[in-house]
Amino acid sequence: MIVLENISKEFHSKSGIVKAVSDVNVHVKKGEIHGVIGYSGAGKSTLIRCVNLLERPTEGKVYINGVETTSLPLPKLRKARNKIGMIFQGFNLLKTATVYDNIAIPLKLLGYDKEEVKIRVEKYLEIVGLTDKHKNYPNQLSGGQKQRVAIARALAQEPEILLSDEATSALDPETTDSILDLLLKINKELGITILLITHEMNVIQKICDHVYVMENGHVVEQNNAIQLFTKPTHPTTKKFLNTISQRNLSSALISQLHVTGSVTRLTFV
Ligand code: ADP
Repeated sequence: MIVLENISKEFHSKSGIVKAVSDVNVHVKKGEIHGVIGYSGAGKSTLIRCVNLLERPTEGKVYINGVETTSLPLPKLRKARNKIGMIFQGFNLLKTATVYDNIAIPLKLLGYDKEEVKIRVEKYLEIVGLTDKHKNYPNQLSGGQKQRVAIARALAQEPEILLSDEATSALDPETTDSILDLLLKINKELGITILLITHEMNVIQKICDHVYVMENGHVVEQNNAIQLFTKPTHPTTKKFLNTISQRNLSSALISQLHVTGSVTRLTFV
């Protein structure tokens, strides 16, 4: 579904060449949730921008559903991009448009007729639990509700992949949990593959099947969530694990395991 093969990305700045991403490999199968964790400047945003085709990597290849996208001409690139939805920390909602229109406008721009737009807006507002807020404006919503609108807007374009760029980092812990529950529901019920980036281990522990730890542009450790949580090897991974409270960590080790498709996911209690 998403394959990054030996991806590197360099930027040329006044102070010289910055290698934001160095020789990174990512392989996300359909229906999985993968998470990239790292401190600020680790290269996470650049990596995810290579997946959603906003950046072309300097080296390496990006495959979306088996199609190599790095050398696609613009019209085909746009088509490939339609398979990918994106949510951000800042929501990016239109302040002067209602909740309904925030979801409807991008669909209209994509050429869907009024009836199809209505069907999709209503369907995805129901999935994110905001049917009763369709006439509200963004400034009448909480942060969590704004993020739900942003998620509905991304889903309404019926992507196969959802990318999340620090989508919960502006939210309080309780709201973060409810958004992560929503992402899990979207993954299970709609079968959408998710790749998220975060600097918070709590986000990773709640929903990810597989984890990549990034530092200075490199993936310094990657593993399925269970192995990473129980047998971390890299000091940076251990540092991140120490940010989870002891109570959660010990309950992680004795938590139930449940199998979703080919992957085993940790459930923390
Ligand atoms: P993260 O998302 O983990 O905080 P980024 O991918 O944003 O990391 O940045 C990784 C490195 O690349 C940083 O050193 C950053 O300053 C640099 N970088 C990112 N984008 C650009 C750009 N457009 N021009 C120059 N340097 C950049």
